[in-house]
Amino acid sequence: MIEKIYHTVKKAIRREQLADPFTISMYRFSPYHACEHGCSYCDGRAEKYYVDGVFDRDIIIRENEPELLELELPKLRERAPIGIGSGVTDVYQPVEVNERLMRRCGNILADYDFPVHILTKSSLIIRDLDIWKQVNERSGFMVSVSLTFADDDVRRIFEPGASSVDERIEVLKVFKEAGCSAGVLLMPLLPGITDTDENIRGLLEKLKFIDLDYIMPSYLTLRPGRQKEFFFKVLSEHYPHLLERYHYLFGKELISGRPVYSYRQSFMKEIVPLFAGINTLTPHRVYRNRMPVYNEVFILLDHMRELYQHRGVDITHLRESTERYNAWVMEEKRFFNRRRSLPSGYIDSRLFEITESGELGVILSNERLTRFLEAVILERKVFSYTELKLRNTEKS
Ligand code: SF4
Repeated sequence: MIEKIYHTVKKAIRREQLADPFTISMYRFSPYHACEHGCSYCDGRAEKYYVDGVFDRDIIIRENEPELLELELPKLRERAPIGIGSGVTDVYQPVEVNERLMRRCGNILADYDFPVHILTKSSLIIRDLDIWKQVNERSGFMVSVSLTFADDDVRRIFEPGASSVDERIEVLKVFKEAGCSAGVLLMPLLPGITDTDENIRGLLEKLKFIDLDYIMPSYLTLRPGRQKEFFFKVLSEHYPHLLERYHYLFGKELISGRPVYSYRQSFMKEIVPLFAGINTLTPHRVYRNRMPVYNEVFILLDHMRELYQHRGVDITHLRESTERYNAWVMEEKRFFNRRRSLPSGYIDSRLFEITESGELGVILSNERLTRFLEAVILERKVFSYTELKLRNTEKS
């Protein structure tokens, strides 16, 4: 039984200065806090996130969120994606069936021009397909479904309250058929349980009939404290033979919760290659034209560092150029934030100006990267993450 705790909040939308390369969003909101899906590995249990009470029982319902959205959306100066949900809640958890806050928020969002990205483990999102289709046609809609288990019996142990494997695959199918962008968050893969060849290949087999935009694999993190203790309790009940291995992998008690270096290395060498030819990050063609170009470039540079690093390429120069680009953006951003009278496209107009004048090349100090970004900014070319090539078309 869950405990509903109704709150009124003062602000709904959290705004970032730059788009988040993982959620591809610059704004965020969530009408709920804590999560009755009760995944045993959920980092929402970690002390860092200050979720009070019993994580999967005491659900906070921010009941005035739709009214706040109405007030706050017209005041946002830049058109950029809104990410809904977070690591500490799933906005389509069962409480939404009767509360219908997401449906109300969706109806409001459909009247504005902001792309939306929802992260969920629930097939309840299909109830609101009509709204998200409207949002997609007007501004763009993307759904990321977290799914790591090929076997639903194993899924039930670790994600007792979330939708079944087949129901989540149905979400992906339905949203792709409706023309939306959709992908899988293949995370967190559990060592010895779901990071196995058998599980990953089994899941890829189930997904191969859907033209997914991305599949993003990642490993488990367990922050010391509540999150780790809870997970170990579940593990000792169902997989006692793996306890010793997990004690070794997470014994260093890193604040980040990451497993030991050797596991992270073998994850990159043995697991990531299973996704050859698949976008393991949200591809450029999906977020392009859905945010200011300066933010698109910021995400692209971040993703390029990851893509090249995975291929063993030395990214020192890329990293240095990126830092200089980011510093330039932040300087422009500070100026933009101070002057409310500037038009919403101000930073982009500055970016086009410095690209055409050659000043971008001076900032980057990297001829090859400058030519690459000129093609992205001025010619609006698309970078294919699987081929590592610029293309003229949307296909990548
Ligand atoms: S669905 Fe997400 S937020 Fe909810 S318990 Fe699971 S991991 Fe945590």
